[in-house]
Amino acid sequence: MSGTANPETLDRESLARLQLERLRSLVRRIARDVPFYREQLSAVAPDDVDSMDALAKLPFTHKKTLRDNYPFGLFAVPRKQVVRIHASSGTTGKPTVVGYTRADMALWGEVMARTLRAGGVTEDDVVHNAYGYGLFTGGLGFGHGAETLGAATIPVSSGNTARQLMLLEDFGATVLCSTPSYALVLAEAAEHEGIDVASRLRLRVGFFGAEPWTEAMREELEGRLGLEAYDIYGLSEVIGPGVAVECGEHRGLHIQEDHFLPEVIDPETGKSIPGDGEGELVFTTLTKEAMPLLRYRTRDRVRLTREPCACGRTTARMSKVLGRTDDMLIVRGVNVFPSQIEEALLGVSGVAPQYLILVERGKDQMDELEVLVEPTPEIEARGDFALKELQRTAQEKVESILGIRARIRVVRSREIERSQGKAARVIDRREKP
Ligand SMILES: [Zn+2]
Repeated sequence: MSGTANPETLDRESLARLQLERLRSLVRRIARDVPFYREQLSAVAPDDVDSMDALAKLPFTHKKTLRDNYPFGLFAVPRKQVVRIHASSGTTGKPTVVGYTRADMALWGEVMARTLRAGGVTEDDVVHNAYGYGLFTGGLGFGHGAETLGAATIPVSSGNTARQLMLLEDFGATVLCSTPSYALVLAEAAEHEGIDVASRLRLRVGFFGAEPWTEAMREELEGRLGLEAYDIYGLSEVIGPGVAVECGEHRGLHIQEDHFLPEVIDPETGKSIPGDGEGELVFTTLTKEAMPLLRYRTRDRVRLTREPCACGRTTARMSKVLGRTDDMLIVRGVNVFPSQIEEALLGVSGVAPQYLILVERGKDQMDELEVLVEPTPEIEARGDFALKELQRTAQEKVESILGIRARIRVVRSREIERSQGKAARVIDRREKP
């Protein structure tokens, strides 16, 4: 950090000054270079952006905007300046496309190196990167960060679990990067093969993201893989992984605020949520060149705090993602978040951290919520009585948290399909209105 101040520990006033300066330059740039924003910002003069309060008057960008401008309509630079293109798979239709200039790639490497450093990773580490390599930003993003940091990087990507276990042991990886669900697949496979993780693997830290996970899942991951689990947050529209990461305090994820300006809003009214209230997370990319976004609606629900952190970083911290504004299920008129069900289930001893939520419309047109849970092999071995007991306890726990009736079905151990990437935890079979 020779000469320049560390952006992660800037005093809030200097940080705010830097953000405002970058925001003004961003508004000027996109109003000039991106037709969509030129139209949106026609009533805004760059000089109007004279304080952070002015942000609230600027228009939002939605996921739909990216689809409407598919593939390159939101690019702010000529195509010859773009050196990388990623795309995230949409569940329907065209993917969401993002681009990077050379400077954007350097920025990505820097914020990802910060991410790994937050977990104490240095050039002495061996990083086993099991995020998928390809159009998805997870694999290449983590790989780029680990190389920028100078760690020995293994781009193992996803799949072939037996080979992954062999490489984890033989290469002596100290850092695991993967989705939390795939980390559990690795742990389970190791247990199945009789590999003692504590004596044969050297894992020290893990960076788990791309799907939300709970504190109960942290205990599973740490206990079974013998590492310290760090939650990371990112999305391809903003840059990919590298937007925010936990520090060693594990009390929220520090946002790389000098580049990604966060807000929390009420998703209904669009108004800013005061204090550390819960709402939808919105990002403005302050420095990206190829595809800058103004007030992008992530649809992730979080709380935000700007209280100082014991680690010394001064950047705002977001809570774990509490749910997505669009993955909330409404069952019999009640809001149900899959994360609530996960929290409830993992609090029941004897339940394996694998589950599947099914929602159907019954014959009487009432919504039926069913949750498939797996017993641990030990409970299964104890026979029917133990399984019935498990079913009863899990049902009580889930119903008391949700406040509605839920059917719990205990399936066989290892029956629920394992994912190599993001786990699909919800199947909603109701007809869409
Ligand atoms: Zn901290």
